[in-house]
Amino acid sequence: MPTTCAPGCTQRHSKSSDVRFFRIPKDEERRKKWIILMKRMQADNPNRLWEPSYHDRICSLHFISSKYNLILH
Ligand SMILES: [Zn+2]
Repeated sequence: MPTTCAPGCTQRHSKSSDVRFFRIPKDEERRKKWIILMKRMQADNPNRLWEPSYHDRICSLHFISSKYNLILH
């Protein structure tokens, strides 16, 4: 199964790209922060914020810094 990012993100995991994927934090507060900062809506329900499941990843394009706990953009 390919690694994918949030709805609407076109990045897919490939060995030739520099894009890295980060796991969603297990910590509830950081997780919520990521979700809010991502501002992604659910693919099948555009009125609701996307909620990643624990196997989802967010790609490095959404981070200002490679330090993955810094702010997303
Ligand atoms: Zn992405």
